[in-house]
Amino acid sequence: MSLYRDTGVVLRVQKLGEADRIITLLTRQHGKVRAVAKGVRRTTSRFGARLEPFGHVDVQFYTGRTLDIVTQVETLDAFGVGLVGDYQRYTAACAVLETADRLTAEEGEPVLRLYLLVAGALRALADGERDPSLVLDAFLLRAMAFAGWAPAVVECARCGDPGPHRAFSVQAGGSVCVRCRPAGSASPAADTLTLLGALLHGDWAIAEAVESGARRETSGLVAALLQWHLERQLRSLPLVERRARPTAAAVEETS
Ligand SMILES: [Zn+2]
Repeated sequence: MSLYRDTGVVLRVQKLGEADRIITLLTRQHGKVRAVAKGVRRTTSRFGARLEPFGHVDVQFYTGRTLDIVTQVETLDAFGVGLVGDYQRYTAACAVLETADRLTAEEGEPVLRLYLLVAGALRALADGERDPSLVLDAFLLRAMAFAGWAPAVVECARCGDPGPHRAFSVQAGGSVCVRCRPAGSASPAADTLTLLGALLHGDWAIAEAVESGARRETSGLVAALLQWHLERQLRSLPLVERRARPTAAAVEETS
């Protein structure tokens, strides 16, 4: 019998049979873990309320043959309590969980940096002191940096020419100089590029001084960047399968 312990944030719950659930957690040491929580849908369950989305928990797992099994749960932070009454904070928190889930395809791969970003964003959203859309944009930018997708905000994304530059291209990877700018590049306000940089580096004093127009423009660019990278990530999956299939066929033929 093999047991292990970890702290994590509940990303998702799915029904399993009559009384059980499959819980997807982003953990500190074990990356994304999917585990079975038995009996949690019964009203007498000790686990049930602790294993809801947004819950920050300390969990003991038993290593199962296919999925691991939750054997103990302690609540560290019930972030959901501070989120359910506020629609804007709640939807921002949902976007945090969904993005974290999509950025961690490989289960068991350590993702400490992303775990810390998720826990920090949920804490800030539940506390209610910062503008929820700024918290979300900061999370999305830093999560993209974790994935290797940080946009260039000062230097040119293509030639590295020190900026700041006026043009911004999602496809080119951020700020672009006059020589490199592709057709259809955006021309965001200088404040928007300042805000992108401040959110990327967690500089809240600068970020919160930026006016609402530049904040809206920043949210639009962040959403476009994330969508572009996630779609490219999804499109690359069929290519992997196509490459794998002839190899498998070749193995069959030669064996
Ligand atoms: Zn350039």
